[in-house]
Amino acid sequence: MDLLNTLVDKGLRRELPTREEALAVLATSDDDVLDVVAAAGKVRRKWFGRRVKLNYLVNLKSGLCPEDCSYCSQRLGSKADILKYTWLKPEQASQAAAAGLAGGAKRVCLVASGRGPTDRDIDRVAGTIKAIKDENENVEVCACLGLLSDGQAERLREAGADAYNHNLNTSEATYGDITTTHTYADRVDTVSKAHAAGLSACSGLIAGMGESDEDLVDVVFALRELDPDSVPVNFLIPMEGTPLAAEWHLTPQRCLRILAMVRFVCPDVEVRIAGGREVHLRTMQPLALHLANSIFLGDYLTSEGQAGKADLEMIADAGFEVEGAGDVTLPEHRVTAGGGCGSHAGAGCGSHEDAGCGSHEGGGVCGTAAPAVAASTVNEARTDLVAVRRRGAGTDLAPNA
Ligand code: SF4
Repeated sequence: MDLLNTLVDKGLRRELPTREEALAVLATSDDDVLDVVAAAGKVRRKWFGRRVKLNYLVNLKSGLCPEDCSYCSQRLGSKADILKYTWLKPEQASQAAAAGLAGGAKRVCLVASGRGPTDRDIDRVAGTIKAIKDENENVEVCACLGLLSDGQAERLREAGADAYNHNLNTSEATYGDITTTHTYADRVDTVSKAHAAGLSACSGLIAGMGESDEDLVDVVFALRELDPDSVPVNFLIPMEGTPLAAEWHLTPQRCLRILAMVRFVCPDVEVRIAGGREVHLRTMQPLALHLANSIFLGDYLTSEGQAGKADLEMIADAGFEVEGAGDVTLPEHRVTAGGGCGSHAGAGCGSHEDAGCGSHEGGGVCGTAAPAVAASTVNEARTDLVAVRRRGAGTDLAPNA
């Protein structure tokens, strides 16, 4: 296919596809999905080989958020039966992180629900970062605490944070349909603050909220413009008790096309499969490793993922290898240019979610709001695959890692 040959050539040269080319990837048929994966896989291997970076989420503070992000199970007023708890103590967070690191993760993503941190919250998180780094010398720490005020990104950097995650989630045009308590511009501002403070920026999206192909291309092009080191791609987990609970629009093939499009637009960036991997890709997860070079190990913020052991077996069976602490995640040209996720210098984080962080969400859902755009299809609801997290941080049970 001429389209795919063109996109491979561009990806190998780090050249931006046109909007039309990105849209054409999303418009390919299911019959062509293996060709699309093979093409984007060439770009993935050029910049990241067969390495898969593992990231581990620690939900520092769960639920009871005053914001109204419609995809989020943690919003105040959410009817989703998730765990709700206030700030973990540094030693509790460090213990949870240790499980993920023992399972092979090289990055810990510290996430807290809320509009954004107070200065006292930054102190708390600084203590947690210290507790984790005192025990694990080479660990990368990403914070995901919501909207940042002036000076907070610098304080996190001084405290030892390597990265900051805040997702754009969806296109600017539809952002107001998803959330009303803050704006798309607020989110862009926080990503810019993280960048300016020398943190590795991590920012991504949530697919499956009823958005159009144009919305998906818009948000991915906007992310490319912001130039994050890592881009988490969340697939909405329509949790019961949330406004988007009926939004089942994704098929495994659609997820693969979305990941391929992101890879072509952001060829040399850490593309992470975030929330919804097990729910929407299902048995096609191994194919997605040919597109993304990063995943979360184990559970998400408010929902459970497949067993960490199954993640590791999947990576090995598909012919990939877990990225080691000594490996640098990003290609050399990005590391030397500054930032440098996966480098140990300025890693880039992930998400908040079950879907994506930076939102603080992804999978879950909260309170209100209609889907952004009427979707053309509703696929089979796989509620049987959605499990609220009942283990790990905030419980007495061992984490999944
Ligand atoms: S995504 Fe974050 S800010 Fe939005 S409701 Fe969820 S926890 Fe609150």
